[in-house]
Amino acid sequence: MKYIFVTGGVISSLGKGLTAASLGTLLEARGLRVVFQKFDPYLNVDPGTMNPFQHGEVYVLNDGAETDLDLGHYERFTNCVLTRHNNLTSGQVYETVILKERRGDYLGKTVQVIPHVTDVIKDRIRELSDESKYDVVITEIGGTTGDIEGLPFLEAIRQFILEVGPQNVINMHVTLVPYIKAAHELKTKPTQQSVAKLREIGLQPQVLICRTERPLDRDVRRKLSMFCSVSEKAVIEERDVEHTIYEVPLTLHAEGLDQLVCDLLHLETPAPDLEDWRKFVERVVSPSKRVKIAVVGKYMDVRDAYKSIYESLTHAAAGEDCGIDLKLIDAESLEHGVDAQLKDVAGVLIPGGFGPRGVEGKINAARYAREHNVPFLGLCLGMQVGTIEFARNVCGIKNANSTEFDKDTPEPVISLLEEQRGVRNKGASMRLGTWPTNIVKNTLAEKIYGDTEVTERHRHRYEFNMKYRDRMNAKGFVISGTSPDGTLAELIELRDHPYFVGCQYHPEFQSKPNKPHPLFQGFIQACLRRQTGHATRVRVDRESPHRAPERELVPQR
Ligand code: GLN
Repeated sequence: MKYIFVTGGVISSLGKGLTAASLGTLLEARGLRVVFQKFDPYLNVDPGTMNPFQHGEVYVLNDGAETDLDLGHYERFTNCVLTRHNNLTSGQVYETVILKERRGDYLGKTVQVIPHVTDVIKDRIRELSDESKYDVVITEIGGTTGDIEGLPFLEAIRQFILEVGPQNVINMHVTLVPYIKAAHELKTKPTQQSVAKLREIGLQPQVLICRTERPLDRDVRRKLSMFCSVSEKAVIEERDVEHTIYEVPLTLHAEGLDQLVCDLLHLETPAPDLEDWRKFVERVVSPSKRVKIAVVGKYMDVRDAYKSIYESLTHAAAGEDCGIDLKLIDAESLEHGVDAQLKDVAGVLIPGGFGPRGVEGKINAARYAREHNVPFLGLCLGMQVGTIEFARNVCGIKNANSTEFDKDTPEPVISLLEEQRGVRNKGASMRLGTWPTNIVKNTLAEKIYGDTEVTERHRHRYEFNMKYRDRMNAKGFVISGTSPDGTLAELIELRDHPYFVGCQYHPEFQSKPNKPHPLFQGFIQACLRRQTGHATRVRVDRESPHRAPERELVPQR
C-alpha cells in the first residue's frame, strides 16, 4: 500500500483539494486504484450544519455523510465512491477519544494528544489500507501548516511514516510562490518558511506543488530545491489555469508529476491514457455554441455554495459541445418581478436550500419558467418551489406552501410526513444519502434516464404531500418518480411543458466529466432547443395520468 499526504502552506484557498484530485486522475489513468481521505482540522463534528457563506456547499455521499466539498472534487475527478470513513474532522477525533475515555477504555490512564488522539487518526488511515481494493491512499490535510488545530494530524503522519516505511509514503506540499510586481520577481521565501514549519514538526516534503501566476524559471526552481531539500524535478509548477479546473491534471502531467510520484513510490505503471480527459477539456474550453442559464439561489456571491451544480452544468454542456453563460440571480431580488432578469435566459435552475429567505422569489422564477416554456430544473427545494407554484397558480390552491416556511399553512403541499412529526422531537431529522427511485412509465423522466430504477443522493426533511397528488395531476402535474413503495414523490414534471423537471434529491452529486447526469443533460438539451428556436411543447392529455408517448414533442408554433 502506498500513501500520499497532501499538506498546504502559506495561505488557504490554494486548491489543495483540486491538486489532490488531479493527481488521482493521473494515477487512475495509469491503471492504479486510488482512494481519498480528507482530514479537516476544525472542531465541528461534520460540516452538515456549517453555513455555506463560510464553508461552501455540503457535499453528500452515498451513505448520507455530509462532508467537505473537496470530497466532491475527488469523486468527480476519479472513479472512487467515498463514504463517511473518508472524511475526518478534529471534532470526530476528539469525540471518539472522549467516548472511549468515558467508557473506561483507557483504564484510568492520562488521556493525551500523543498517543491517544494521534492513534485515532492513524487508525483512520489504516482503515483504508485494503490492498485488495486500493493501491494508493491520498490523504489531504485541510488548513495551513502551522495552524494549531492541524498539529495532531501532522504528528500522526510523522508517526505513520515511521511505521509503514518512507519508501511507501510521499509528502506533497502545496504552496504559494507569489509574484511581486514592484520587484518583478517570484518570491520563494513564503515556501521556504512553510517547509521550515513542516520540518519543525518532523515532516520533510518530497514534492512541492507551487501555485503561481507566472512560470517558474530555472533559478526559482533551483532555489526552492536547494532551500527546501526537494529534488529539482520535484518542484512542480501549478500555474493558475486559464479556462477550467479540468485542465489541472493535464498541466500537472506536463510537469511530470505522475511519473515523479510513481518513481518515488516505486510503482511501475504505463504512461497515463488521458485522451478522453483531453477531449473533455477541449469541449469545455472551446465549445461551438453557448447557452445562458439562470441559477436562482441564496448564496450567489459565494461561488462554492453551489459548486457541484456548476460542475454538473459544465459536464452536461460539454456533452453537447456547448458552453454555459451563468446568470447568478439572488432569489430575493425576484420577489417583485422577474421578467427583466429572466427574459434573456434559455433555462432556469433552482438549487436546494433551507429556510424561508428568498423562497417567494424562487416561486416567481418557477412561475416564469412554466408560463414561458423556459426549461426548468428544480433540485430539492427547487422541486418543492415548483410544486408550490403549480399548486397556487394552476390548481388555485392559493395558500399552498411548505410547512417549512409556514408551519400552520392550511394547504401544506410540502410537509413533514406524519411519522416524521412524531420522531422530530427525538432529534431524527433529515433523509440523507442514497435512496432508490422508481421511474414512472411514459414520462419524460423515463426518457431522460432511459431506466426504470435509479438511486440518488438525498438531503432534506420535507416531502410532497400525496393528498394533493390527484388534484394536481388533473391539471398536468405529474409525479414521474417515487420511492419503491410509492409513498414519496421523488421526481416531478409538467405535462404541458418542454422541460419542467424537479427532483427531491441532488443529482449534482453524481455527475462527472464525460458522464453527465441525465437530468442535467436533458436540461441543457432542452435549453439548446429553446435557444435555437426549436422549443418543443408537449400536448396535454387530460385522460391519461402521464404523458402519452406518441404525442410527445410536438414542435412549437
Ligand atoms: N429545505 C428543504 C427540505 O428540507 C429542501 C432541502 C434541500 O433543498 N436540500 O426538505
